[in-house]
Amino acid sequence: MLDTLTKVTGSVAKALDIFYVAHGIKPAARVLLDKKELLTWLKDNKLWYTTSEFRVQPVVDPSRGYSDSGKVGDRGFPVLYIAKDQETALQAKKNEKDYRALGRILGYPSCCCEFYAKHAQEAAKQGNDFTLFTCRNSAGIEFFWQNNNCLRCFDATLLSHFPCSFSCQQSASIAMRNLSLIKQHDPDLALQIEGMLHGVVIYAKGVGVYKIKPQKIERNVVTYRPRDVLASRKNSFTALLRMNDKMVIKEKSKFTVGKVDVEDLDTFAMVFK
Ligand SMILES: [Zn+2]
Repeated sequence: MLDTLTKVTGSVAKALDIFYVAHGIKPAARVLLDKKELLTWLKDNKLWYTTSEFRVQPVVDPSRGYSDSGKVGDRGFPVLYIAKDQETALQAKKNEKDYRALGRILGYPSCCCEFYAKHAQEAAKQGNDFTLFTCRNSAGIEFFWQNNNCLRCFDATLLSHFPCSFSCQQSASIAMRNLSLIKQHDPDLALQIEGMLHGVVIYAKGVGVYKIKPQKIERNVVTYRPRDVLASRKNSFTALLRMNDKMVIKEKSKFTVGKVDVEDLDTFAMVFK
């Protein structure tokens, strides 16, 4: 089922979101209908759906090669609300403008629904990238790997929502519940996602997303092999990371790569373990 769903949606993360609903561990999903084949799949698998009144034309953030936002209007793709029963799908659509209510219908923790609603206006002006707000809201440099949703541009996440903080306990529980379902159906995929989410992430607004598989982390000193740097885009920051093999993270927005100091309020270095 998961394989077919991934082909039909074109993304593992999107397939998983619907997979959780099909298995009854998530009440509803909200996805962009950019491939019509999905509708046939939903009918064949006895899932209900409703389509939004509006359409969305995705806008890709070039630094991540990924879209969190889109132009809402008459053009583009509709949004689908998917559930096991008709009532839940209809309720989701009915509440599509009320972020708190919609988040609850989609099964997200109330702290994260509150967080989303609180930052929605501001995020809309910045490409709807809520990960930046999660980074800002997360204290320290070490976080639950289960909550790492920075790597969506590499199609790796266990969450369908933006956690209020990378330390959000309720989000981590949801991620673990999702992972155990994946393990039952596709143990290799579960291992792959788990391996991807562990490690060091540098999330730099407008620059790129970088995942570093560390060789060793001692206190705040990270050593790595240059070939273990995964980058959403090739640029001078990618080159800097690949020319070095050591990072010192003093604070999440203040760190050193080799001998170069990085201090920027929109650049975050975080350890997910
Ligand atoms: Zn939360």
